[in-house]
Amino acid sequence: MDAHFKPEHYHRPTDLKTASLLLARRGARVIAGGTDLLVTRPADTETLIDVKELGLSFIREEAGLRIGSTTTFSDLLRSPLLERYPYRVLYDAAGELGHHNLRHIATLGGNICNAVPSADAPVALIALDAIAVIHGPTGERTVRLDGFFKFVRETVLKEGEFLKEIAIPVQPEAGASFQKLGRTKVDIALVNAACRLSLVGGVISESRIVLGAVYPTPLRARAAEDVLNGNEFSHALAERSAQVAADAAMPISDHRASSEYRREMSYVLVKRAIIKAHERAEGTL
Ligand SMILES: Cc1cc2nc3c(=O)[nH]c(=O)nc-3n(C[C@H](O)[C@H](O)[C@H](O)COP(=O)(O)OP(=O)(O)OC[C@H]3O[C@@H](n4cnc5c(N)ncnc54)[C@H](O)[C@@H]3O)c2cc1C
Repeated sequence: MDAHFKPEHYHRPTDLKTASLLLARRGARVIAGGTDLLVTRPADTETLIDVKELGLSFIREEAGLRIGSTTTFSDLLRSPLLERYPYRVLYDAAGELGHHNLRHIATLGGNICNAVPSADAPVALIALDAIAVIHGPTGERTVRLDGFFKFVRETVLKEGEFLKEIAIPVQPEAGASFQKLGRTKVDIALVNAACRLSLVGGVISESRIVLGAVYPTPLRARAAEDVLNGNEFSHALAERSAQVAADAAMPISDHRASSEYRREMSYVLVKRAIIKAHERAEGTL
């Protein structure tokens, strides 16, 4: 525990404007579920802005899906909207996050804004072409989620800004899959991966391949997508694409796993994700 984490002020605003005004103050930091923040306990925090009374806990259909930033992972797992393909990829990622108790508290917005490479939801959301809706002192702006992350624990959020909601555009008929490998079932990912693909007449017309925990930010493996696009699915094609994705990874070695192991597992998980996404796109699962 960091002895210097002693915020002097705590606010629980009920409107977005007040929240961004408070957040623009020196040393102010958002707290949602606190499952990351109360572990990292950044010493420069003077004021906590609790965002849970802003009315941002919702999942609704609106030109695709809209999910408020304080929606918990348990809320995601209860939503029938996420049972449909390809949104199911987010449901699958939500079910892999931590353990049951944690999922009641941990929010989607916290998982994204914490901006650690191993986070589960961003990988699934980038595969769905999700967009971050950001609220700040000058109003609202949107950023594609694959451009939201700048580095480990660094995002495009500026002073006074916070994540309001996630917009997932209407999806073409597609199958998608999320895969994760952790040391144990409740651990953070050593590697995670998502794939979404659409089929037209048996040919892969569009695909997304995203990896987590192998790069400072979630990694969209565009060259691996190019291997799939315009081709008929085969296991050999999935293996070629997975190899290209694994080659793009730049994993670190740490106490959890070596970089070599992470790269090898990137190949395995991307291959599984492609095969599963294809099965789902064909409607066979
Ligand atoms: C035991 C344990 C197991 C875990 N397992 C996993 C796992 O398997 N997979 C995984 O991905 N994560 C895991 N986590 C990490 C964590 O639970 C998630 O990242 C969670 O979703 C964070 O959400 P929160 O609401 O608790 O965020 P908080 O801790 O409240 O906030 C996290 C960060 O995001 C910022 N923030 C929060 N909301 C917003 C917002 N709306 N706008 C701007 N900034 C915001 C905060 O200022 C803070 O910097 C685990 C954590 C623990 C303690």
